[in-house]
Amino acid sequence: MPWWCKLLWYNQLVKNWILTETEKKIVLSLVKKDEEELKTNDKFAIIDSDTFYKSFSEDEKYIFEKYLNFNPQEIRYKLLYLGLEEMPRDIVKIKNQIYFLNGQKRIYYCQYLPKETYLAYCKMNESIQKKLHKKLLVSQGYHSPARHAFIFFENLIEYNFDFIKTVGRVCFPAYSEHVCSRKQAIDFLTQDGIKGEGFEKTREYEWLKENANRFGFSESYPKNNNLEIMWEPWHWHHEN
Ligand SMILES: [Zn+2]
Repeated sequence: MPWWCKLLWYNQLVKNWILTETEKKIVLSLVKKDEEELKTNDKFAIIDSDTFYKSFSEDEKYIFEKYLNFNPQEIRYKLLYLGLEEMPRDIVKIKNQIYFLNGQKRIYYCQYLPKETYLAYCKMNESIQKKLHKKLLVSQGYHSPARHAFIFFENLIEYNFDFIKTVGRVCFPAYSEHVCSRKQAIDFLTQDGIKGEGFEKTREYEWLKENANRFGFSESYPKNNNLEIMWEPWHWHHEN
């Protein structure tokens, strides 16, 4: 595709997603709700939109739906369409994961994995622990499309409401391996509290690159991938 053509698409898209000050405030309020829920509600990662809609205002629903109804084909999205499915019935809850941040003990909020991925993850952890004396924790496992939208909004704020940058960081729900149990993704967190940026420098990442395939895990978005998704060394998926 010629560069100018790409630019036109992007401009059109950006125009659609230039939020007004009022809309930005709504997004901020949604993310605040998200943070509160995560602190107290174990089931928030798997919440369905109907349940959460009950506490939404009309304005919040509008922004929420604006994202969920967006058709990624409009921007010739390169990722594979995975679809949206029912939550797996054999989902396993992962609670009380302990990590240390600046020497302070912290507990990570509740995560979920389909059983098959969970078992493969446990097996892999036994192996990494023998070698590095450290475990890998789950910072994002399975989550519902509704929760996925909140993650998009969190990142939208982080990227100062730049839609294109955010799309390059957070996949659309029907394309996300966190929402699809057949190709279940795990974002790893180290026991030293490293997730996201910096993960590529850890011994855990080095170990994953050499060994994760043996346990059925693959790095989904490697460095210099041609999917227009940023390098995510912490994001690995398991084919179920
Ligand atoms: Zn991920």
